[in-house]
Amino acid sequence: MVDLKGQYEKIKTEVDTNVMEVIESTAFINGPEVHAFQKELEEYLNVKHVIPCANGTDALQIAMMGLGLKPGDEVITADFTFAATVEVIALLNLTPVLVDVNPYDFNIDIEAVKRAITPKTKAIVPVHLFGLAANMDEIMALAEEHNLYVIEDNAQGIGANYMHSNGSKSKTGTIGHAGTTSFFPSKNLGCFGDGGAIFTNDDDLAHMIRGIVNHGMYERYHHDVVGVNSRLDSMQAAVLRVKLRNLNDYNTARRDAARKYTDAFAQEEKIITPLICDNCDCHVFHQYTLTVKDTDRDALVKHLNESGIPCGVYYPIPLHKQKAYQDERYNEADFPVTNRLVQECISLPMHTELDEEQIDLITNTIIEFVNR
Ligand SMILES: *Cc1c(COP(=O)(O)O)cnc(C)c1O
Repeated sequence: MVDLKGQYEKIKTEVDTNVMEVIESTAFINGPEVHAFQKELEEYLNVKHVIPCANGTDALQIAMMGLGLKPGDEVITADFTFAATVEVIALLNLTPVLVDVNPYDFNIDIEAVKRAITPKTKAIVPVHLFGLAANMDEIMALAEEHNLYVIEDNAQGIGANYMHSNGSKSKTGTIGHAGTTSFFPSKNLGCFGDGGAIFTNDDDLAHMIRGIVNHGMYERYHHDVVGVNSRLDSMQAAVLRVKLRNLNDYNTARRDAARKYTDAFAQEEKIITPLICDNCDCHVFHQYTLTVKDTDRDALVKHLNESGIPCGVYYPIPLHKQKAYQDERYNEADFPVTNRLVQECISLPMHTELDEEQIDLITNTIIEFVNR
């Protein structure tokens, strides 16, 4: 699904030099590399504060802790996403409220969010799923109207530009009250282990969060709030500094590959390709995800695997049907889109090193199968 080796070969000298410098310096934790990466990411995203942490799941949890969400507060998020999003809500004893997604972009359905709002609702967590920006203008307007926080789960969307209705652009993750990301190796900006970060333009929230990631300390050995231990280490920062300089090129390579896939499927009625807009970089294609009609998706997966072509099903089970997150409040009729997507979706190999020959093989194999 990804080719991290091919990507590494191209930046090997820079990465190896940076990592060796960290080893020589022995500043493994909170070293200058982490600080430099933080500043560079703030500049890249055009956001006031980046707070690095240990992974993308922690980032979500810490953002919710920083915003002061309390047990019983309801947090609305998408039913069709990776479980980390709903997991941290539950872990903090907040009440997860899962809602359906849009059929055209797989992102949270604003009408479903509206229906789910109650006096207990405190926050909305949109996920920029597969790298495509959710409709932030509508989400922010709704949040303002109901006095809710917005935490953007940007683990799959780093580098995407959201175009506001007035034509101006913001990087995803910098529009809500807080944004979070993951540097897991296969993410668009991935390190060589675990890593994550929280973004915010709010000075007070940033201060709060800087303490929370460090055992609730604002002054050494003074623990003012209950915190966690969540750090990005210097070796990961050393890798990320090199990759950040290449992030726009990486995302362009992904978009180019996506366009080639989509062009190849243009005549295929059974294959619904993901949304791609012209002259816009609102999609960074963390995944290239199709839906197939009148086709046995699982048989297609099996056929691709047997042909030596990797593919993935993200996600095979809606969160509201997962054992850990089932709740009698949920009504199947409220999830027509996720219930369908889990049966029809399939993600194709997507990374920065895909070549024409690979894309031809993948698309030809799929086209041949669906027309059998
Ligand atoms: C990867 C991912 C996370 C979690 O990130 P980790 O670094 O693995 O903890 C959270 N949300 C989404 C949408 C993700 O894709």
